[in-house]
Amino acid sequence: MINRISLPSDQDATGRTFGPEELEAVRQCLETGTLTSTKGNFVKQLETSFALKIGAKFSYACSSGTAAVHCAVAALNPEPGDEIITTPITDMGALTPIIYQGAIPVFCDVDPHTYNVTAETIAKCISEKTKAIIVTHLFGNPCDMGPIMELANRHGIPVIEDCAQAYLTTYRDQYVGTMGAIGCFSLQQGKHITTGEGGIVTTNDEALARRIFLFINKAWGYGDANADHYFVAPNYRMSELLGAVAVAQLHKLDAVVESRVHTAAALTTALEGLAGIETPVITPSGVHTFWKYCLRVNENVIPGGTVALGAVLKDSGILCAPRYIQKPAFECQVIKNQVTFGTSRWPFTLARSEATDYSRCHFEGTWNALEHVLVLPWNEKYTDEHIEYLATNIRRAVKSLTNKAAVA
Ligand SMILES: *Cc1c(COP(=O)(O)O)cnc(C)c1O
Repeated sequence: MINRISLPSDQDATGRTFGPEELEAVRQCLETGTLTSTKGNFVKQLETSFALKIGAKFSYACSSGTAAVHCAVAALNPEPGDEIITTPITDMGALTPIIYQGAIPVFCDVDPHTYNVTAETIAKCISEKTKAIIVTHLFGNPCDMGPIMELANRHGIPVIEDCAQAYLTTYRDQYVGTMGAIGCFSLQQGKHITTGEGGIVTTNDEALARRIFLFINKAWGYGDANADHYFVAPNYRMSELLGAVAVAQLHKLDAVVESRVHTAAALTTALEGLAGIETPVITPSGVHTFWKYCLRVNENVIPGGTVALGAVLKDSGILCAPRYIQKPAFECQVIKNQVTFGTSRWPFTLARSEATDYSRCHFEGTWNALEHVLVLPWNEKYTDEHIEYLATNIRRAVKSLTNKAAVA
């Protein structure tokens, strides 16, 4: 018998890093009496510190990761019907901003072992109408940015990096969020660092920075001689209270990432040689910062595959997710049925038919990835004991499923 233990969870204090630092920051913030970032200093401090931290010229805080992606898309100012290439394995918050800006999300396939888009899969989707490429560094593992940037530069197409799951992830010793034209981060409850909800946008380009700043602020030209509302834009500002918490959280980011990388390596070692299980494939020249830890399960060796293994692990309190998302994004109603503004289906009415062809043959890697991935929750508070618990339970579960098959 293994004694059942409960793992730290990123949904509550057991697996989050809030402490006296955040409390003190919030107290100081409240004492100033200024909770809007247009007048206060905490959000500005977050923006300066974050830009410095990852080596970006400009950084802007906003209200969510979804808002961050929206800012990035809006900064590029697509014409209605322009296409933005992206991945079908992502958070819906990375997709709806494309539609809100009147552009068409065009899905490219992923590598079934890294779960990331590649230069090859992106290349197949480039058309006359491609306005941008969004690459998502899924689970904290960087996309293979060398060939991707080469492809994008050759075509003169800007790249947006979705780094919501990839804080301090590097590729060739450079932080993600600084290689493409724009980087997007999320501070949602379950990310490496959090303010409950929140987001950050980064860029090295001054003109894009200006548009991002404006888009967050109803496009009001703060500080301009003849300030006006220059174009259609929401209020995506982060409140000073969240800015204060984020500044404190940012100080903890190095330790959070270091811990996650360390414990992930320990689990990989502990699972070495386990038949039917592939541990995370890290992109060459990359550092994976483990937002989650994925097992790739071979159902020919382990009967029932991810679903069966996931069910056994859940019985031990390991809240893993077979398939990560239940279906590719293009199978969700919003995209499949083009449910947008009223009954118009706009902007999909402007799309080329190839751009909305979601036939299975174009997405072999995507379906393969979702059918084989088992996502383990990961956390900076995991100890050696937690890793041993995970490894022992995974080994046992695999053994019991394999034996059951042998008996039958
Ligand atoms: C979390 C996440 C988002 C959306 O961020 P929110 O803060 O939840 O709006 C976007 N993209 C990816 C890859 C994410 O993981």
